[in-house]
Amino acid sequence: LGSLDDFDDCDNINVVVRVRPLNEKEQNRGEDSIITFPGQGQMLLEPQAENIKAKQFRFNILFEPEATQEDVLSHSGAKRMVEMAVEGYPCTIFCYGQTGSGKTHTLTGPPHLFRKAPDMYSEDHGLVFRSFVYLFQVINEQKDKDFLLKASYLEIYNEKVIDLLNPVQPEPGKPPRSLMVRWNKKKRAFFVENLFTVECEELDDLLAVLEEGLRNRAVASHNMNEFSSRSHTILTVYITSEQKAAEDSDVYISKLGKLNFVDLAGSEMTKKTNSEGKTLEEANNINKSLMVLGTCISNLSDPKKKTGHIPYRDSKLTKLLADSLAGSGVTLMIACASPARSNISESLNTLRYASRAK
Ligand code: ADP
Ligand code: MG
Repeated sequence: LGSLDDFDDCDNINVVVRVRPLNEKEQNRGEDSIITFPGQGQMLLEPQAENIKAKQFRFNILFEPEATQEDVLSHSGAKRMVEMAVEGYPCTIFCYGQTGSGKTHTLTGPPHLFRKAPDMYSEDHGLVFRSFVYLFQVINEQKDKDFLLKASYLEIYNEKVIDLLNPVQPEPGKPPRSLMVRWNKKKRAFFVENLFTVECEELDDLLAVLEEGLRNRAVASHNMNEFSSRSHTILTVYITSEQKAAEDSDVYISKLGKLNFVDLAGSEMTKKTNSEGKTLEEANNINKSLMVLGTCISNLSDPKKKTGHIPYRDSKLTKLLADSLAGSGVTLMIACASPARSNISESLNTLRYASRAK
């Protein structure tokens, strides 16, 4: 049983659940959905499907299969994240779920949208595109401030950070050069050394970053099996604002906000391991960062553990998300799930993982 909490403006970490429709493949196989929606923001998992004991999870918002991409922008709290990033806070939106559960659909939508027809009003456009559009709306309303936008796009694969805007390949066929994650003492934050950041003056510039990253990710994945389900990507928009302290003042107040969009590796990786060499190392690394992220979030959500040790340093992913998970940062987790009977144990795992944040 899953049910609905009110969206909480004060929480640093909010969790929403999106259940996608059964896809064609599943329908052709004659699969049925084991998730039903009795209303009032509730969903029910057919318990006899896997001898599951009655269990209850709580989330902020539930998106049923009919929910549109625009619904997700408007009702997930994503708009508030954009507003807070403009106000100078570090913010993260990430999608969690098994491969095929709808993470990429939710964040980017079908990639062909950007390549061929830059149709502003396609209903398939994902959260990233919609947040970009909203970001410019918010910025254009604040005439008293000067804004400078930059963006970067990286991929973490097997604990290696690859620049999706500048994937330097040492040799053809070899994986791209990886970058170092370092600690900036002065700013008290982790950063990726030599990461490309692109100045973005208008919406088209941000969309070009998205497009370029998606293209480079597709090229990289060509050489490696299931690459995209095993890697995490982080698309970051850095928002600097400058405002006069008072109308006749020469003093300027400058703020730096950040908005991360994170497409995580498939959560099934937390268990599946092929017992052979590289794949095992890969699985362990992917496994590890998803587990560390889960532990960080669950500790931060627990008032007793919140002030104790949070293991950000245990993975590259959590190092790079640390500022938005902790302190004044805000995080939105979108847990994506398939309703198909054959996916029930993964869907349950996703709900369990997501509920640790509440
Ligand atoms: P993931 O990134 O989690 O591996 P995808 O986003 O690639 O999963 O989704 C798998 C398939 O399901 C894709 O073909 C995608 O278009 C489709 N899909 C996912 N979510 C939805 C949705 N809410 N509505 C319609 N199709 C969806
Ligand atoms: Mg994907």
